[in-house]
Amino acid sequence: MGAKKLKVTLLRYTPNPQETVAMGAKLCYSAAGIEDLQQGIKAKSQDAFLGRLMEFGHLTPIEHASFTFGIEGVSRSLLAQITRHRIASFSVKSQRYVSEAGAAKEDDVFGYIIPPRIEALGPKAVKEFAAQMGQIQEWYDGWVEKLGNSGESTNEDARFVLPNAAETKMMVTMNARELLHFFNLRCCNRAQWEIRALALEMLRLVRSAAPVIFREAGPGCLKGPCPEGLMSCGKVDEVREKFKTF
Ligand SMILES: Cc1cc2nc3c(=O)[nH]c(=O)nc-3n(C[C@H](O)[C@H](O)[C@H](O)COP(=O)(O)OP(=O)(O)OC[C@H]3O[C@@H](n4cnc5c(N)ncnc54)[C@H](O)[C@@H]3O)c2cc1C
Repeated sequence: MGAKKLKVTLLRYTPNPQETVAMGAKLCYSAAGIEDLQQGIKAKSQDAFLGRLMEFGHLTPIEHASFTFGIEGVSRSLLAQITRHRIASFSVKSQRYVSEAGAAKEDDVFGYIIPPRIEALGPKAVKEFAAQMGQIQEWYDGWVEKLGNSGESTNEDARFVLPNAAETKMMVTMNARELLHFFNLRCCNRAQWEIRALALEMLRLVRSAAPVIFREAGPGCLKGPCPEGLMSCGKVDEVREKFKTF
């Protein structure tokens, strides 16, 4: 275990997500039956139609496309933030059923995330941080021992000494509409660095699966004035430039 880095995998998504969305939208505007609609959708590219749909902001049809991610190498601090997104579905590694003392077998310390600003201070700072994680491991193992080392009922209390830095992994599913909202908030410079890095990686992955749906996705300031008002990072032009080539 020890220090871990972010890893995001797009595990599954609605087959032909853009055709599925186009189907839902066309159904709203057409008298044709489902079979005819399906044939029509398959017969030609739906990109232009979808592009218009996104411009109009008719977004309910994009809820028909869902995307499931495997996320590893993130902190419990990130977990607290991402689970605030209520339209998403989550499965998260349990600190009750999975003992961190077991994790100690590899190199004695549970998985953890080092904030880049601490890493940037250099090897001495990284060593100090790692030593602190080692100290916490000792505390954790001590409680496991004192509480009788009996699995779930021990782990659920021993974990109280674990830090926000402790690594977790999760499976997350969001539909495309929720993803657009998530990118809006979490690709923003005002979002905390870890969830911003995750959001950018998720955006990169879904852009290749559904390019038209996610073509304009990103922080709120891409499409209008910065929604952060007085809290703005003040770098709207820079952000817009970055997302042109993202
Ligand atoms: C930069 C930043 C700083 C933050 N700081 C803090 C902080 O200091 N403290 C804190 O507690 N949180 C903080 N948050 C979290 C924030 O308050 C939201 O909980 C989080 O961003 C999820 O947003 P959401 O509710 O819009 O998203 P979701 O839960 O994904 O919901 C999506 C949309 O669905 C609708 N919706 C969902 N549920 C309901 C409902 N029950 N009723 C009505 N409409 C609903 C809303 O339109 C909502 O925008 C921060 C977020 C960001 C991006």
